[in-house]
Amino acid sequence: MSSFPDLAALHAIGAAQQPTYPDAAAVDAAVARLRRMPPLVFAGECDDLTAKMAAVSRGEAFLLQGGDCAETFDGVTAENVRNKLRVLLQMAVVLTYAGSVPVVKLGRLAGQYAKPRSSDLETREIDGEKITLPAYRGDAVNGFDFTEASRIPDPQRLLDVYNSSAATLNLVRAFVTGGYADLRQVHEWNTDFVRTSAAGQRYEQVAAEIDRAMSFMRAIGADPQELRRVDFHSSHEALLMEYEHAMTRIDSRTDEPYNVSGHFVWIGERTRQLDGAHVEYFRHIRNPIGCKLGPTATADDALDLAAKLNPDNTPGRLTFITRFGASKIRDGLPQLVEKVTAEGVNVAWVCDPMHGNTFESSTGYKTRRFDDVVDEVQGFFDVHRSLGTWPGGILVEMTGDDVTECIGGGEEIDEAGLAHRYESVVDPRLNRVQSLELAFLVAEMLRQ
Ligand code: PEP
Ligand code: MN
Repeated sequence: MSSFPDLAALHAIGAAQQPTYPDAAAVDAAVARLRRMPPLVFAGECDDLTAKMAAVSRGEAFLLQGGDCAETFDGVTAENVRNKLRVLLQMAVVLTYAGSVPVVKLGRLAGQYAKPRSSDLETREIDGEKITLPAYRGDAVNGFDFTEASRIPDPQRLLDVYNSSAATLNLVRAFVTGGYADLRQVHEWNTDFVRTSAAGQRYEQVAAEIDRAMSFMRAIGADPQELRRVDFHSSHEALLMEYEHAMTRIDSRTDEPYNVSGHFVWIGERTRQLDGAHVEYFRHIRNPIGCKLGPTATADDALDLAAKLNPDNTPGRLTFITRFGASKIRDGLPQLVEKVTAEGVNVAWVCDPMHGNTFESSTGYKTRRFDDVVDEVQGFFDVHRSLGTWPGGILVEMTGDDVTECIGGGEEIDEAGLAHRYESVVDPRLNRVQSLELAFLVAEMLRQ
């Protein structure tokens, strides 16, 4: 493989979805600073995750990937991180126990601060006047406030991404290794408003069964370490060339480049051009990587991407994250899976049931229907089951809080109810109860 390209070479290719910074010297200074920062993750941890994703690609494990569409700097609080982790742990327990399958746990967090946008501009009507400003591109780039000053891209934010990611990952690591993820805490994760919901009560039953199984194990003298901690990894869309390039280091063990800002990074639907800068960057790093595939992706696109991104066909290296939409997945996915499988290409297939199902409510909120999310996952399972391939996992946008951003679910949130607590700065997330409900439904699909 050719050597790792420098930043200028990537920009010369022309990277999509990049901010236009007003001050080039300030960008250089931020990049230079980032290059000196310690890694947030170790290359060896990335390799561990590749091995786990290889198990997913072989049909021996299931991936649960979840977190915010866009993290925010303000959202970096102990409470917020704990709440998100707690619902991910609950979902993982449900999938592992009720679905009887090992679950690979991957946070969409500690780095998910940059957003691709379908339009460079955003227009709002304020006091009867239409005002157009640059679009919000995530806290990594500019501010969410709808003012001219706030929307100017600021490279100093790249350092805030690093610091916010470090703080988040540090807390997550403390939680998962320090006892919070201990299966003996399985009841503690089911607190407050969730506990009283139907999904929460169902969860209590699962937790009680796990308790009994653990008492049995203790009674026979078994106390495996696996019950006390979980493996948990971080992921984000590697979008901004400045940040991702600056956070790429040559691993001393292997002499290979790794992105050390997160364990798993993915290429978005808008930046997966075969001859684009993102694919060029991704083909050099050795992390486990994902690539989104939407309804316009052909089987040949998938094959070309696999050939370029994983020329050695290493199992666990490449994950295709499909996001067709509930109405398209049953028609669109089979040809991709069939051809990729027929060519002997090793990939893990993961379903993103969120991004093909977004629409604007009559009340003006970007939302999704819980039923569409479930239907797309069901379609994903149906397609893989009929082809004899493995539905390897789900990527969900979710939060540990009681927000009202997606319609439906057991709480029956309706269009009018969205206004109650809509907090997402970009895409609507499943709230905690909806996330747990989805886990139970997916566990049933896994059992069938
Ligand atoms: C996302 O995952 O938030 C996203 C923008 O997805 P996609 O690239 O599939 O549109
Ligand atoms: Mn999103």
